[in-house]
Amino acid sequence: MNKGLEVARGKTKVLFEQPGQPDVLVVQALDSITAGDGARRHEIAGKGRIAAKTTARIFRLLNLCGLPTHYLSGGEDDDDNEMLVRRCSMIPLEVVVRGVAAGSLVRRKPGIARGSIIIPRMVEFFFKDDANHDPLIDPEDIVARGIASPAEIALMGEVARLTFEILAHAWRRRETLLVDLKVEFGRLVGGESRGTLVLADVIDNDAWRVWPQGREDLMLDKQVYRNLSEVTPADLDRVRENYEQVSEIVGTFPTMRPAMAALIADGENAVALLDPVMRALAQFGMQSLRRVVSTDLTPHFVVQVTQQLDASFSRLVYVASGPQLAAMLGAATAAPVFDATEFEADELALAIAKPLALDDTILFGRVLLVQANARSAVLHADAQLNAPGPAPNGTVA
Ligand code: 5GP
Repeated sequence: MNKGLEVARGKTKVLFEQPGQPDVLVVQALDSITAGDGARRHEIAGKGRIAAKTTARIFRLLNLCGLPTHYLSGGEDDDDNEMLVRRCSMIPLEVVVRGVAAGSLVRRKPGIARGSIIIPRMVEFFFKDDANHDPLIDPEDIVARGIASPAEIALMGEVARLTFEILAHAWRRRETLLVDLKVEFGRLVGGESRGTLVLADVIDNDAWRVWPQGREDLMLDKQVYRNLSEVTPADLDRVRENYEQVSEIVGTFPTMRPAMAALIADGENAVALLDPVMRALAQFGMQSLRRVVSTDLTPHFVVQVTQQLDASFSRLVYVASGPQLAAMLGAATAAPVFDATEFEADELALAIAKPLALDDTILFGRVLLVQANARSAVLHADAQLNAPGPAPNGTVA
């Protein structure tokens, strides 16, 4: 990639300007692996290439789910170990989400059994300061030190949790437990979205713990390297193999499984009834098709259309324009059938997306995001309703 001046250098990556694009940076992943805040350091040939691939694939998945990230492109096959990102000013915090007790949590809180499930997920903030071993920091301290506002802290917590749930879902589908995860945030520096908080830095095999089959002894992440008492070339080969395996698995994460919603109108006049459903489904990126039949005039055609569709799509859901057609379709197919008159369009699209999301992480992420936005809309409406209005004399209370 065409690179300009070096703007920053971390333990495992270097950031460069992108000539002609002041709001874009090139992130180059290095072959280094470090532990103990940089006290231990080794080079593993090809690790930068593997790390770039992993990070790019994770960010591509998160972007597809609709989460705000700094990732633009690159990092995969033809891009060597470099990716393009939106330029941010980094917030000096590590945001850790924990779903299973391990690592520094069980050292700090011996009362929590190692390996126990943490519900609700725990979010912790660590101040980035290698010299002081990245100390845990309270939200109150984050605000008092001017690192981030209360609203930003709440947003970082929410986005970090969503990221964890999306990645945990992807790993679960591969029989692997995501134990914990570290993410970092930045504020975009340029363009109309200046100041917007986005997931930044990298998310790779250094940043989480993953236990295949839920077994710590099968771990594939950087903890293998951290645990070594002495580091031999054979150990480093094993670590590289683990990183390669993780990158291969993660390569399958950002793929949407094809699914079809068949919107069936009972008579020509019912077609328009299904338009809002089609729009609501499109918000999830779900494909739909429309057919017109008539329960009264062409009952055989209803069955024929159903048989055609059942034979064409493996992940198929029907939406009927009314109860009579829904009953008829329900008897004719083994696929799920919804009656559009029983739901608001958005509610119906969510009800269709949820079962399909069970084995589609992108759809799962989109469902989580829609639900999170719906919750935040309620909180926003409540805050507005109870916001202090103008006092009777015209001054703001
Ligand atoms: P712990 O606080 O238990 O040591 O770490 C919690 C999670 O954050 C683990 O998944 C760990 O890999 C990750 N983590 C903690 N510190 C760092 C760090 O400095 N760099 C990276 N990449 N990940 C970290």
